[in-house]
Amino acid sequence: SDSHFPVPVSPDEVDLSQHYPRYFPADNGGGEEAPPPPRIRFADVGCGFGGLLVGLSPLFPDTLMIGMELRDKVTEYVKERILALRASNPGQYDNISVVRTNSMKYIPNYFRKAQLTKMFFLFPDPHFKEKNHRRRVISMQLLDEYAYVMEVGGIIYTITDVEELGEWMRSCLEKHPLFEAVPDEEIKADPVVKLLFTATEESQKVARNGGQTFHAIFRRISLQEE
Ligand code: SAM
Repeated sequence: SDSHFPVPVSPDEVDLSQHYPRYFPADNGGGEEAPPPPRIRFADVGCGFGGLLVGLSPLFPDTLMIGMELRDKVTEYVKERILALRASNPGQYDNISVVRTNSMKYIPNYFRKAQLTKMFFLFPDPHFKEKNHRRRVISMQLLDEYAYVMEVGGIIYTITDVEELGEWMRSCLEKHPLFEAVPDEEIKADPVVKLLFTATEESQKVARNGGQTFHAIFRRISLQEE
């Protein structure tokens, strides 16, 4: 249960130096001209074994990214995987990390308003039964939270091999006033999109079995009132 992992009380309590030591050296010179410390910009929600982070890392070498994963053993695996990649590729993979947490409860504990520029929901658990729909990682309520932590212009990427879930995620995003579909031409030109179909362990399994996939890619937009 949740009592087995620590939860930061606020985003300021997240110790980034533990996650990205190369970006937070113990001795930062302390000069007044020191640039502001970087922030996490991408979140992979339910990251599983971390394939997306590993694929994204070299594409955005100066962007800090975090995977959020509920299962303890899987989280430990991703940690080891990242440490091994750093060890065998000095100077690379320093921008990715993972945290064990329940993303459905603790997103606001990790990210401030408008902090994230990309959020990923790749092959989330389907929760087929009607009474379990409230456990889906995309819902109108959770989209309110995701909209809060995302920067205007930021992009949310979702994909699944479960048609019903794909329709559900798309319809929630279409209904939400703070998201708008990214046009097809932009989707085609986005280098990140290819990774949705190839980079994660689940996407590879689906591809091996010749399964169909359903994606929905939406942009965080602003409302007049904001
Ligand atoms: N995204 C990965 C991929 O494409 O290979 C993993 C997909 S797997 C089917 C779904 C993952 O979401 C599992 O690893 C599960 O433990 C994780 N998960 C489910 N509910 C979660 C929650 N509330 N918070 C964080 N992770 C969760």
